[in-house]
Amino acid sequence: MHSLLSDSKEIRIYQRPGRVTAKQLEPMDQLLLILPRKVPAPLWRKLPEGQKLKAAMRRRGANAVPAIYSRLGNKKQTLVAGATLANDATAFEQLTLARRLVASATTEKAGSLGIAVMGFDDDVAAAIVRNVVAGALAAAFQLPAFKSDAPSDKIRSIRIVGLAEKLDLERVRAEANGNNLARWLTAMPPNKLDAAGYADLLQTLAKDRGWEYKRYSTKELEKMGAGAFLAVAQGNDDNSASIVRLRYRPGTASAKADLSLVGKGIIFDTGGTNLKPFRAMLDMHGDMQGSAVALGTLLAISEMKLPLGVDAWLAITENRTGPSAYKSQDLIVAANGKTIQTIHTDAEGRMALADTLVFASREEPGLIVDYATLTGSCVNAITTRYCGVFTNRPDWHPRLKRTGQHCGERVWPFPIGKEFLEELKSDVADLQQCSVKGTGDHILAGSFLAEFVEHDVPWLHMDLSASNNKGGLGHVPTEVTGFGVRYTMSLVLDEKILETAD
Ligand SMILES: [Zn+2]
Repeated sequence: MHSLLSDSKEIRIYQRPGRVTAKQLEPMDQLLLILPRKVPAPLWRKLPEGQKLKAAMRRRGANAVPAIYSRLGNKKQTLVAGATLANDATAFEQLTLARRLVASATTEKAGSLGIAVMGFDDDVAAAIVRNVVAGALAAAFQLPAFKSDAPSDKIRSIRIVGLAEKLDLERVRAEANGNNLARWLTAMPPNKLDAAGYADLLQTLAKDRGWEYKRYSTKELEKMGAGAFLAVAQGNDDNSASIVRLRYRPGTASAKADLSLVGKGIIFDTGGTNLKPFRAMLDMHGDMQGSAVALGTLLAISEMKLPLGVDAWLAITENRTGPSAYKSQDLIVAANGKTIQTIHTDAEGRMALADTLVFASREEPGLIVDYATLTGSCVNAITTRYCGVFTNRPDWHPRLKRTGQHCGERVWPFPIGKEFLEELKSDVADLQQCSVKGTGDHILAGSFLAEFVEHDVPWLHMDLSASNNKGGLGHVPTEVTGFGVRYTMSLVLDEKILETAD
């Protein structure tokens, strides 16, 4: 494996369906117990030491998290962290509870984490268990740490008890691996994961996973006319920038992509000539999270061996200051011939994505999804709990929202289109890069990007306003959320968007 990739061990998952017995609980260091809001009396009798747990819940109250915090009388003195959940709790509520319960149970020691969800209908219980496993796998994954003391594991194995039958957890695992990879790369310090190192790592991953790898160097991109991407890249002090294309083809190798994932991979965003102040620049090594989410999604699809052709197009560069860096009022020609008057060098994401979208759409995939930590105005509009989505298929808006409700990574659609381009009108070019006012910049950015999607390919742009949320989000316990992997999987597998995209 590549030295910049995590060497975390895979968490083993054991499943023991049927009645919960004291013997099943013996190997557990912790047990997460999830019950309905109103616990029926017979349920306590089905639980080992049920009366003791019932009394423990009475002390803390059924709505507390945890509502039970007690130890069993077995040899390991299994710590029981319990909570109740409404029967109609949303996916987001289930995931959030999972994060909080896992955190409360695993502060003291690592170990074998048990999960028991009881008192719900079978399909509801199965959904809750999947979401709790997702929370456990997210918590178990250690983000990059370079401390002298090696970080200790939080969770070594997972044991699921009390379900009617075993669950297929392949998708939960694949989504967790995709999300973990996205978070890992985003959290990596920018001198560790630089533009050249990132491309190199992608080559290793591609080889390992059987994906085709193609790196378009700055020289090649010049020939391809990628002036918008190169405008951003010209501030780099070397030719380390590139657009990397990964191809996953489980069927015919030459087949068109059903799905193209495009990601903004700004390794570090200083703002460029329009330099950011200290606080705004502090976390700008994370400005490549869009590319990491595209990659994580590709990984999840590939691990599930989904019968789809998938491309990932990752636009990798820094946005730096310096004598050769681009500046306001530069005249840029993008790969589709459109001319752009630059306004603000910190609006580099849309420049890097513009050409990348041209290349991705020329292949006429069934759907393009792009991911980018693009605008502060999207955060201003909907906070860091939701991501903004934008599409050239506005009749999808209800489906896009529904997908978010269903999977727990919630999104909100915004309008885009020609109407908004009036605010990007330029005296010297086809388009201004952004408006001087900055009002509704997330909508203007989406409208700008739409100008670079060719052949009217169905396209969804996700502005990753929820890429970083203090204290975590949903089941993810870290500030970096990796938002988008789970959403895209749900869009493909639950909403089946590819079957109706035209
Ligand atoms: Zn920027």
